[in-house]
Amino acid sequence: MALITKSIKGTQDTLPSESHKVRFVEQTALEVAGNCGFREIRIPVFEHTELFQRGVGDTTDVVQKEMYTFLDKGERSITLRPEGTAGVVRSFLENGLYNEPMPQKLCYLVSCYRYEKPQAGRLREFHQFGLECLGTASPAADAEVIGIANDIFNFLGVRGLRLEINSIGCPACRKDYHKALREYFENRKGELCHTCLDRLERNPMRILDCKSPVCSEIAKDAPKALDYLCDECRTHFDSVQTYLRAMEIPFTVEPSIVRGLDYYTKTVFEFVSTEIGAQGTVCGGGRYDGLVEEIGGAHTPALGFAMGIERLLLLMDKQGLPFPEREKCSLYIATMGEKASFKAASIASVLRREGVEVQFDVVGRSVKAQMKYANKLGAAFTVVIGDSELESGIVRLKNMESGEENEVALEDFEGAFMRASLSESLKGLEDLGVGTGIDLDSIMNGNLF
Ligand code: ATP
Ligand code: MG
Repeated sequence: MALITKSIKGTQDTLPSESHKVRFVEQTALEVAGNCGFREIRIPVFEHTELFQRGVGDTTDVVQKEMYTFLDKGERSITLRPEGTAGVVRSFLENGLYNEPMPQKLCYLVSCYRYEKPQAGRLREFHQFGLECLGTASPAADAEVIGIANDIFNFLGVRGLRLEINSIGCPACRKDYHKALREYFENRKGELCHTCLDRLERNPMRILDCKSPVCSEIAKDAPKALDYLCDECRTHFDSVQTYLRAMEIPFTVEPSIVRGLDYYTKTVFEFVSTEIGAQGTVCGGGRYDGLVEEIGGAHTPALGFAMGIERLLLLMDKQGLPFPEREKCSLYIATMGEKASFKAASIASVLRREGVEVQFDVVGRSVKAQMKYANKLGAAFTVVIGDSELESGIVRLKNMESGEENEVALEDFEGAFMRASLSESLKGLEDLGVGTGIDLDSIMNGNLF
């Protein structure tokens, strides 16, 4: 096939065989967050570049190396969002959400764009489910947010994720900490990579997140933020841990986590898997008490997390977790001749209005080919309509799983189909041991409607 071009490196298509899995994960995340009062916000895919430079931080890898930035036709510098938080905070400020009751609990599903080296679990276009809780400094909010990520994983049946938490302090305690870091790295200056030399000047904490093997080896023995926390940050961190214990959420304090974005303060956390290779962080987040001010708003303590949908799906597939079945065709109407096709169109539109998935031939194939197609669709019921059925007014509704056929009047076809399909669902429930107390015969005899 001479395709004029292929998809962009680091992007992937989600085909119908997979899309229901993505939807299930997204729906579950929205529902779990919804139960804690988080409502969905939708933001644009691109923003003015300054937003990310200031919001994500211009000493971060994301801003220095990974952004998709271009000039639009008006010569404005535009960037495809590399993450969701900066855009959500911009929207929170621009739309005056700070006038609404606080905290504002916002969640989102976004595609993100980062110019990274594509590999398993690392794409150039990927998707995140994230949430932001704006307007609270309380450790209870930290625990609530961490608890939501934890609940999402539990609802999906994901096992074996390790929750690692740390505190990286606030601007007050960070002064001493930066000083200690500078002293430490100053002594090993000769071994640091080029980027880290610059980081040493501008933001020494970034060196702790450097992916180069030499720098990360040196970083292992660097001073830890935990040892420099001020009283307030220490008390906050202790309280977050008490909440997590009260909520029976297992965690490990991991002093080396700093997270890759500049805006974090106090609590930072990650959910990490060892089962999906090197890119094991499925969810990362933390508190960012200074970000709203940085973007131009009033001081607003806040926090959030983002989880990578692709990494989560990789892990779920790896663990062989069950997904709900893909939607299947409920009824396929095979037709012979134009008159039958008109009748099929009429039946289909009535049932589709009732929310039933109905298909009939829109290609002009033989009945045999139509039935083959119905089989491939996995249609639950089929019916054949031709001249003789139109004449007699009787058709045979076939249950494809049991093979059972029932004669029904064409005149009452829609009702007969609904009863047959309802009775099938009830049987399914009873097979699962759910008592419905409804008499199947009364349904089939039409007593229920
Ligand atoms: P990493 O250390 O893996 O690069 P990060 O610190 O850059 O992660 P965040 O910016 O915190 O990641 O994004 C939150 C989540 O989004 C990550 O934990 C991960 O699950 C997912 N994610 C980040 N970058 C990518 C990517 N390039 N491809 C796929 N998923 C990603
Ligand atoms: Mg990254």
